[in-house]
Amino acid sequence: MMHLKGKKIFITGASRGIGKAIALKLAAEGGDIAFTYCGSDLEAVQATEAALSAFGVQVKSFHTDAADFQATDKAVADMVAAFGGLDVLINNAGITRDNLLLRMPEADWDAVLNVNLKSVFNTVKASLKTFLKQRSGSIINIASIVGISGHAGQANYAASKAGMIGLTKSIALELGSRNIRANVIAPGFIATAMTDQLEASLQQAWMEKIPLKRVGCPEDVANCALFLASDASSYITGQVIQIDGGLLT
Ligand code: NAP
Repeated sequence: MMHLKGKKIFITGASRGIGKAIALKLAAEGGDIAFTYCGSDLEAVQATEAALSAFGVQVKSFHTDAADFQATDKAVADMVAAFGGLDVLINNAGITRDNLLLRMPEADWDAVLNVNLKSVFNTVKASLKTFLKQRSGSIINIASIVGISGHAGQANYAASKAGMIGLTKSIALELGSRNIRANVIAPGFIATAMTDQLEASLQQAWMEKIPLKRVGCPEDVANCALFLASDASSYITGQVIQIDGGLLT
């Protein structure tokens, strides 16, 4: 059964990693997909577009810096004009600039907060008019378990993800009466380019702490995104769902 047939979906940062896995999962269920990217080469973006189009859905990509308010506003407006609506907004774009707070340059604080947190303000502001007009919408924000627990060496990243949780809960409270839902997915350790940067010994140390004894894969996150995007979750808002193999329990 196609759970998202005709749903129009906007995803930030879906050229690779978790965002791409979510886009593929939702397209396989019939959703039309618009996605953004920023640093990826054209070949990678075209490969993603081709893989999505193979499901017979509408596909559009935007070279848009998620931190840029005006550019995001334009991308969302162009997507709504092209697809004729917007049903699901997924904020996935994210970066790390890890360092101990003592050594963290101001630029690394600003970059992480702008790409990970301000980006959510940008897309939600750009989407609200459409959501309010149609009296429905599902917003899914990809945070992290470190936004709940904190993490030494990731003060900027953890603060940005904690901010996403506070922002999401506020959106759920402000807009629930208009049938606009907002939820957070908080992944643990998921195998992507982001975690590949970590030393092998550190990756092993994380693995040993995970009760389910395996690192997560992007599809584990995509399965939850499918649920939150679909009408199967229509009575769920303001929640934080951990996809972490039990790591933060
Ligand atoms: P990734 O492999 O590094 O991919 C990041 C994605 O974000 C790419 O598509 C990238 O596109 C996009 N992006 C980065 N900066 C952007 C910007 N300024 N504007 C638009 N797009 C931008 O990371 P990932 O592991 O898939 O992570 C995806 C999300 O999950 C992030 O929010 C991350 O914090 C979160 N997360 C990941 C893990 C994990 O273990 N991997 C755990 C918890 C949470 P371009 O390269 O084209 O810019």
